[in-house]
Amino acid sequence: MTPRVVHVPEPEGDGLMWEQVRRRHPRAELRAYDGSPFDVSRSRGDAIVVYCNDQPPNVPRGGVAGAMADLASGLVLVCVRDVRAFLRLRWDDPRLGVAIGRLIAHELEHVRRGSRAHDRRGWFRACARPEDLVPRAEAR
Ligand SMILES: [Zn+2]
Repeated sequence: MTPRVVHVPEPEGDGLMWEQVRRRHPRAELRAYDGSPFDVSRSRGDAIVVYCNDQPPNVPRGGVAGAMADLASGLVLVCVRDVRAFLRLRWDDPRLGVAIGRLIAHELEHVRRGSRAHDRRGWFRACARPEDLVPRAEAR
């Protein structure tokens, strides 16, 4: 079985957070996390979804609505503030969660297909407008 890896967002052995995480996950392998989602460990064939507030400076901007997939690494990055701004929804609007779920499904399909291409119709069209992610009748 693959050992569980916990990423700690501060330099290795530097401070209280490592002790806290080690106490909580005594059998896990701890690794320093420098803010690059590409450093998040995974097994071969895994896809991983990373939420962040803003686009990390070390990641090239991609995707329309604040989400992007890196096909080579199987990484889906969801920049939640960008998604909210694109959709023009309030933070407490429950449609925001639904739209984020749809975005993640969309980006995971890019990873599964190994392609940036979209279908011309159906659920895997390009998501170029907020209405593509929020039901049309409810879109603002
Ligand atoms: Zn797409």
